[in-house]
Amino acid sequence: MTGGGRSFPAEETVARIVRAEILALSAYAVAKPDTDGKPWTKIDAMENPYPLPDAVRARVSAALARVAINRYPDGSAAGVERALRSALGIPEAAGLLLGNGSDELIQIIVSALARPGAVVLAPEPSFVMYRMDALYASVRFVGVPLRPDFSLDRGAMLAAIARESPAAIFLAYPNNPTANLFAEGDVEAILAAARGLVVIDEAYYAFADASFLGRVPEFPNLLVLRTLSKVGMAGIRLGYAVAAPAWIAELNKVRQPYNVNALTQAAVEALLSDSAWIAEQAASIRAERARLESALAQLPDVRVYPTQTNFVLVRVNDADRIFDGLKARRILIKNLHGWHPLLANCLRITVGTPAENDSLLSALSALESAK
Ligand code: PMP
Repeated sequence: MTGGGRSFPAEETVARIVRAEILALSAYAVAKPDTDGKPWTKIDAMENPYPLPDAVRARVSAALARVAINRYPDGSAAGVERALRSALGIPEAAGLLLGNGSDELIQIIVSALARPGAVVLAPEPSFVMYRMDALYASVRFVGVPLRPDFSLDRGAMLAAIARESPAAIFLAYPNNPTANLFAEGDVEAILAAARGLVVIDEAYYAFADASFLGRVPEFPNLLVLRTLSKVGMAGIRLGYAVAAPAWIAELNKVRQPYNVNALTQAAVEALLSDSAWIAEQAASIRAERARLESALAQLPDVRVYPTQTNFVLVRVNDADRIFDGLKARRILIKNLHGWHPLLANCLRITVGTPAENDSLLSALSALESAK
């Protein structure tokens, strides 16, 4: 039948066919503050607040104009690989896999390891996609609570590793949403104890004082995950995994043939042909972060946690009140209250431009005095 007439009662079939754990989910809600057309201060998603420098923008635009959009992209994205290797210090001997954001790489890793009975393990609270991708792949997820100061509970992690023998352990380094870098010795102990893959997710590497990237050749079970998203290029969706070639060869089989589209490939080559701007923007963000941290710490009833990322985690007396009050002033941050018991009354604030940070600070002071 075409058009009109009978409607399709899909709900009954959907409920019978789709897996119960998927039916129970709600789709990932991305906050969209711009629907009414008025400007918002959007400091909720760890984006770099700065636009591309003019010269870089011109380079990208010329490169995009040349892309043969009628053709499939280069499936191996060889030009992007070359650009990443020369711009971002990837060890020569290590293998490299590109993804449509590091989100896709997490999904590829979990699905490649999803044997019956496989376990994925991560400390919690951490990046929620480790748990979600395990669920999508029907892999059991084991979360090990962090300590109240958000450090790794080394004993609990090692006990869980011995008990569960996880196929993969995910460590966000620095961690989202707690903003801290785990102790290097704890991570090394996990690398030594793990019989499966240890994924060190360095999404925030540009704002941190430590990295495991250079140590990939040292550990046969280490995969370092990175992304261009936090360093000014979230819109193009490019993540990369660095590990022993034997790991990369298998993960590459799970990848969709054209997962990095032609526009992204052309853009990355143009964006990285001079990468000084990335370091300069990251340095500005780190400087603003320091200013924001100390200004936040001056506010009464705000506890600021140490950060090695482009966001600041704070604990307040009433996170819902502050979140709603900022929203009423057109400032969007992330309310973590209710996510995990360790995050009670916590808020996550992305470092914005100096002007954005100023409006956040003055709104917070206003909310404080309106109490
Ligand atoms: N890992 C961590 C720890 C993150 O916080 C994020 C983004 N929030 C990602 C990975 C995914 O980043 P993307 O898909 O943009 O590369």
